[in-house]
Amino acid sequence: MQEENDPHFETAAIRTRAAQTQHREHTVPLYLTSSFTFENSEQARAMFADEIEGNIYTRFSNPNTTELIEKLCVLEGTEDGVATASGMSAMFTSMAGLLKAGDHVLASRSLFGSTHQILTQIFPRWGIAHSYADINRPDTWEALIRPNTKMIFVETPSNPSLDLIDLDWLGKLAARRGVILNVDNCFATPYLQQPAKYGAHLVTHSVTKFIDGQGRTIGGAILGKKELIKEIRFFARHTGPSLSPFNAWMLSKSLETLAVRMDRHCENALQLATFLEGHPRVEKVIYPFLPSHPQHELARRQMRSGGPLVTFIVKGGLGRAARLVDNLQMVSRTSNLGDTRSIATHPASTTHAKLSDDDRAAVGILPGLIRISVGLEHPDDVIRDIRQALEKD
Ligand SMILES: *Cc1c(COP(=O)(O)O)cnc(C)c1O
Repeated sequence: MQEENDPHFETAAIRTRAAQTQHREHTVPLYLTSSFTFENSEQARAMFADEIEGNIYTRFSNPNTTELIEKLCVLEGTEDGVATASGMSAMFTSMAGLLKAGDHVLASRSLFGSTHQILTQIFPRWGIAHSYADINRPDTWEALIRPNTKMIFVETPSNPSLDLIDLDWLGKLAARRGVILNVDNCFATPYLQQPAKYGAHLVTHSVTKFIDGQGRTIGGAILGKKELIKEIRFFARHTGPSLSPFNAWMLSKSLETLAVRMDRHCENALQLATFLEGHPRVEKVIYPFLPSHPQHELARRQMRSGGPLVTFIVKGGLGRAARLVDNLQMVSRTSNLGDTRSIATHPASTTHAKLSDDDRAAVGILPGLIRISVGLEHPDDVIRDIRQALEKD
């Protein structure tokens, strides 16, 4: 929530920093130290007793991870946070740090594959149940909330079908029913949407994706309300999913360019989506800022722009989709996303291959569906490569 004198997003992303040391360095140094010293035993006692703040040990905190979290909190409009070693450790810790046996999680069915595995394969061992709600049937969600539902977990836009959830509606539902709302904001980043503004209690990230944006590292973040983060921090401190200082240092630098990178990713994505929509070999293009997207109006309301991902369905199903991916000359074939390099992924045979055919169909993953994470190359070159791959045979 921008107050009159608050710095703008771009400024906060650059100027939020750890305190300068006696060397008056211009950018923040890297604190490669596993532990920190105490001035005396009284200070040590007070720090361990949480009476005073300070770094004790890098598994608990480190100036580089603290800087990254403070910056992300300003950008997301959240109170506090914990940095983690991967996006999945953020998703896991944000749930396991708060839930206990007997609790229930209501989640959107369209989830990142490993989050789905946590809910369906790992949490049941500990007596934590879940139900899935259909992202396109918001009218059915409230009835799925049980007396023991402690958390609602969602991603918007969803992967890879780019369906949106109305965060304003969901924030109000969670508040009314007293349930913690946890939003994985990895696809949008805080530059495109800030779930906490709509009442999300937790905002989780794989910072591996657009926040790093350069395909260099793995990391995660859990941001949110002070009292929830306090419990999550206790869990993280004693179970140890900490982000390394080097990665935190690099990711804080990555955030300095997030706004300009996202603007360009989104401009390029809109150009690619517009090209694909007119192509005779393409059955359907899904992009939130195209008027053909069924939730176009919501996208305009909730997101600053349409995002860096474009999903489309080629005519000819699995065979044509596989050939298209094989025919690419520049665009990378990897399952990742959120890089300077454009990436093509065929979810039905890779990221979502473990799902049953029915589960895939339920989240709109057709055999001919291809997801492009649009990079920062010149958009004409990306379009040229995808066009030749599409038209080759
Ligand atoms: C990649 C991703 C994750 C997992 O993050 P890692 O950094 O790979 O552990 C979680 N959620 C979404 C939406 C993702 O795209």
